[in-house]
Amino acid sequence: MARSLDSDPARANFLAYQIKEKKADKPCPRCGNHHFSIVGESALNVRPPGTWGLNARDVPITVVACSNCGFISLHASAILEKVPGLLGGAQ
Ligand SMILES: [Zn+2]
Repeated sequence: MARSLDSDPARANFLAYQIKEKKADKPCPRCGNHHFSIVGESALNVRPPGTWGLNARDVPITVVACSNCGFISLHASAILEKVPGLLGGAQ
């Protein structure tokens, strides 16, 4: 279940800032709208095909929705959190 960020506006603002800083704020690929909202954070369970729970891991994700058509995109939260120029940050 996704974790709403309504109770943590600083976290929502940080994630929105990072999305913009990383230039991941292009118009919606479905309707061309320029406005999005962060729905919340969740986890994507990733496992090798054909396995059931073995070697599975959760990848923390940020869920973003187009404010017009509702198209949803997912961002790996750990990568969004990386600040360029800091050790381990994206270049
Ligand atoms: Zn849209």
